[in-house]
Amino acid sequence: MTLHATPIPILKDNYAWLLQDGDSGATALVDPAEAAPLIAAIAARGGRLDLILLTHHHADHVAGTEEVRARFGCAVAGARDDADRLPPLDIALGEGEEVTLGTARGRVIATPGHTRGHIAWFFPAGPLVACGDTLFSLGCGRLFEGKAEDMFASLAKLAALPGETLVCCGHEYTLANARFARSVDPDNAALHARVAEAERQRAAGLPTVPTTIALERATNPFLRAADAATLGMLRARKDNF
Ligand code: ZN
Ligand code: FE
Repeated sequence: MTLHATPIPILKDNYAWLLQDGDSGATALVDPAEAAPLIAAIAARGGRLDLILLTHHHADHVAGTEEVRARFGCAVAGARDDADRLPPLDIALGEGEEVTLGTARGRVIATPGHTRGHIAWFFPAGPLVACGDTLFSLGCGRLFEGKAEDMFASLAKLAALPGETLVCCGHEYTLANARFARSVDPDNAALHARVAEAERQRAAGLPTVPTTIALERATNPFLRAADAATLGMLRARKDNF
């Protein structure tokens, strides 16, 4: 069983993700905010799209959904709790429920905090997790509709995934996050090594993601926060950094 994840850069600094099941060729697209480059990317990979997976309702994650759906006739899956403000869902799911992608299965992890209905999609076959604006490399999403307690619990669920799990997040924020991470965790050698790697990747025009759960546990100040109060303090400081 193999599931390949490819980030497709769209808009200013967003990533949509193509997930392809190596056994069946079945393909999913996470957070199609801009249709034209995604339709082109899918066409370049054989022109098959079975499923759109949505993480949350923000326009920079869903705006291209209808155009992509119309082009490929694929099903759209998202959070039941947010169905009233997502594009029309063919598959509406909640915590622990699953979608099928060829021979792979993806499980919903409810990750409120950035928005109330935010979800992540965990595929053991990667293993990978498409986590939208909840967990970024060296950072986490802003608390638009949740409290620090919500985000702390959501990040704890993601941190408990296997260390080799690929983190397929929604934005290229790594270097901006790195400045803040180094300011609050200046003696972390793993963090300094990660920032140097990310600087090389960006200088070469490459994405810094996917990262892994193990690397984020070692370097991400928001995953390393001991409790919700610490996370809330970090998030408030980062908002004004
Ligand atoms: Zn968002
Ligand atoms: Fe976003």
